[in-house]
Amino acid sequence: MLTFTISTSRREEIRDLTERVQEALSELGATEGVALVSVPHCTCAVYLNENESGLLDDTLTALGFLGRLQRWRHDIIDNNAGAHLAASLLGSSALVPVKMGRLELGTWQRVLLVELDGPRTRRVTVAVLAEA
Ligand code: ZN
Repeated sequence: MLTFTISTSRREEIRDLTERVQEALSELGATEGVALVSVPHCTCAVYLNENESGLLDDTLTALGFLGRLQRWRHDIIDNNAGAHLAASLLGSSALVPVKMGRLELGTWQRVLLVELDGPRTRRVTVAVLAEA
């Protein structure tokens, strides 16, 4: 298992983790199995999708809608209920098959981290579940 950090620079942004996760596989010496990419946070998420600038903007707009929908009960505590809700919908981890040391992603698929309450320093853990 390996952990790295990523510092986000905006309240909401999407960062492409694919190359860093691929590096982690090399550092771990992983060849076959499944890579678990996870974040130990409640207001950011990891998901798989296309890294296309328009789609990234659309994703942030769609996720941001949750925060603008209404004043949520959690907003009374730290004013970031929308970030928690969006992170819950996407999830805090993604699983990707690993074959011959490479992430088995679709042509347009990338491993993406979405920051929903930044800027912050986020920890990302890569663990490989190896085939027996
Ligand atoms: Zn909160």
